[in-house]
Amino acid sequence: MGLTGLEIYKQLPKKNCGECGTPTCLAFAMALAAGKGALDSCPYVSDAARDALASASAPPIKSIKFGNGSVLGDETVLFRHDKTFYHPTTVLVQVSDTLNDTDLVAKVEQINDLEFDRVGLHYGVDGIAVLEESGDPTRFAQAVKVVADHTEKSLLLLSDNVAALQAAAPAVAAKKPLLGNAAEGNYEAVVALAKELALPVILKANGLDALNDLVEKAQALGYKEFVLDPGSRKPVETLANLTQLRRLAIKKKYRPFGYPVVAFTSKNEPMDEIAEASIYVTKYASAIVLKADEKGFLLPLLTLRANIYTDPQKPIQVEPTLHSVGDVNPESPVYVTTNFSLTYYSVEGEVEASKIPSYILPIDTDGTSVLTAYAAGKYEPEKIADALLNSGVADKVGHKNVIIPGYVAVISGKLQEKSGWKVIVGPRESSGIVSFARSLSNG
Ligand code: SF4
Repeated sequence: MGLTGLEIYKQLPKKNCGECGTPTCLAFAMALAAGKGALDSCPYVSDAARDALASASAPPIKSIKFGNGSVLGDETVLFRHDKTFYHPTTVLVQVSDTLNDTDLVAKVEQINDLEFDRVGLHYGVDGIAVLEESGDPTRFAQAVKVVADHTEKSLLLLSDNVAALQAAAPAVAAKKPLLGNAAEGNYEAVVALAKELALPVILKANGLDALNDLVEKAQALGYKEFVLDPGSRKPVETLANLTQLRRLAIKKKYRPFGYPVVAFTSKNEPMDEIAEASIYVTKYASAIVLKADEKGFLLPLLTLRANIYTDPQKPIQVEPTLHSVGDVNPESPVYVTTNFSLTYYSVEGEVEASKIPSYILPIDTDGTSVLTAYAAGKYEPEKIADALLNSGVADKVGHKNVIIPGYVAVISGKLQEKSGWKVIVGPRESSGIVSFARSLSNG
């Protein structure tokens, strides 16, 4: 959270000596506020002022990194439309150390395969949580090693038993797993292990008051790489806790709760579990640990996540270049649409379903749909004519017929005049493309 120049100025020595390279302390403060300087340039800043500025300028929710590129926290708003959410909820599927090694490998490979391509995005499950349920530290360490050897995904090592974490964590520390749980009875030993291996650790307590106490005691150990678990496993309580933690961190800047939060699902039936996890993705889990491990269940959850963590001010777009669908040839039809991903992929899916190899040229409309782009003057005949020319499609087909969306039939005459292509008005909705394309090819 950035400080204003005046807030920074209050903490400066006010000598106006110019040794920092700016003539006055106020000018230096303004430069710092604009991100154009370093506090160390002033040799007279007191330690107290340095701490105050560092603390006040820290993000309301600390960024915690672990595993293979997983980033938790570092959010600045309560509602995505206020700005955006930055770091999508990390989704981890759990495995138990009670499985034998063969079953464990099969399960890990199944989780590795939970990846999807949709509307030009590639996304998947981010990690695997290895649960210590065997009661045997040696078995836990072995299971963690087997999982680590068979996946590139981020790891969470989860046990209430310090000995199990001590047995398992050092061998996989290079993969920077998240550790858990540090709780009231064991937090000193677990935080010490996390600190020694430079790993983030989950602080788990039963309720927000107990969590507050635990965070303050753990921070006093000189470590701050924490993820919080408020303990509840009932959906209503978990949602209330997640909401309170986010509100206190963002609105009140309450530092003990300025850490990312992990949620655990309680439902066993996969449909119910995904519905529960969807609530936590929406508000406000930084990470979720769940049991469901089949594509049909994970895809809706990950799609919801992709929607929520898309910057609302930057629509998802595709490259506004010529795309081909199927084994195109000089007879292939040429469609134009917009570069808004949902529009483009709706068209592409229907063109593919028509089984007629075709070209699609998405026009750069800043990621807006056909009617929005037309209303905003971004889907004009001149622009489409230029795109046709610059795409080189004329060199790939032996005709000059272009199909435009039915919603902008009104531009057909002018587009024909500007481009020299014969304009064919297509269906209004992409759902009409299959029958349209077949009637075109038959007739
Ligand atoms: Fe002020 Fe420090 Fe710069 Fe001197 S060096 S002008 S005291 S900010």
